[in-house]
Amino acid sequence: MARGRLDGVIALDGPSGTGKSTVARALARRLDAGYLDTGAMYRAVTLAVLRAGVDPADDGPVFEIAERVTLELGNDPDGPTVTLDGADVAAEIRGAAVTAAVSAVSAVGAVRELLVGEQRRIIARVLEERGGIVVEGRDIGTTVAPAAGLKVFLTASADARAQRRSTQDVAEGRASTVDGARVDVDRRDRLDSTRASSPLRAAPDAVELDTTEIDQDDVLTRLLELVAQRGMLDNAEAGSR
Ligand code: C5P
Repeated sequence: MARGRLDGVIALDGPSGTGKSTVARALARRLDAGYLDTGAMYRAVTLAVLRAGVDPADDGPVFEIAERVTLELGNDPDGPTVTLDGADVAAEIRGAAVTAAVSAVSAVGAVRELLVGEQRRIIARVLEERGGIVVEGRDIGTTVAPAAGLKVFLTASADARAQRRSTQDVAEGRASTVDGARVDVDRRDRLDSTRASSPLRAAPDAVELDTTEIDQDDVLTRLLELVAQRGMLDNAEAGSR
């Protein structure tokens, strides 16, 4: 299989439970690229909203909080970090309270504009520093990085997604059942797909990959082939890994 260092942007979108995060991080690691989890940014703003006791659906106050907080995202795929006003919130943003409220916060158009601007700045900086970045989210191929050299939209059956979400929750120490995860996954997909501002949607030129029946190694192999086909490998590094 072709080897080398990623040159450019890979946009990885899709609903929750499709294996996006695992695949995005593995891909970035394999291609010696940076990594950006845009969902973590919406989650961190949501945590700040909840801490402030603000209704997540109350656009004005939610935007004020989003503007006021300082978010820092680490771009190392081996240990992506998330801080909110200087404090590590990586675990807390995965909790049930944030998961239940994040779709309301991410539907606020002004919050999206703010975070999309920040995401583009991070992408530009990482491209300058490392030459390549894998960005995961819901609107990367359509809105955040429409010129990405490779856009991928991962899908999977609702059952597979609920099962994966629940397994991941349990592995990370959170109480979870498959039925509960399914209700959550369905609800978030509905809200994320129907919001007015950059809804969850595959870009017209995205490669759609159904991960229901294939494991993560196969997804990774397929994506590495696509990266090579698109000429996104800086082969000066070839053979060095
Ligand atoms: O990827 P993750 O499940 O952590 O994303 C949490 C939520 O953040 C999503 O359900 C969605 O509401 C929002 N999100 C978004 N746009 C992105 C990434 C995440 O609206 N690019």
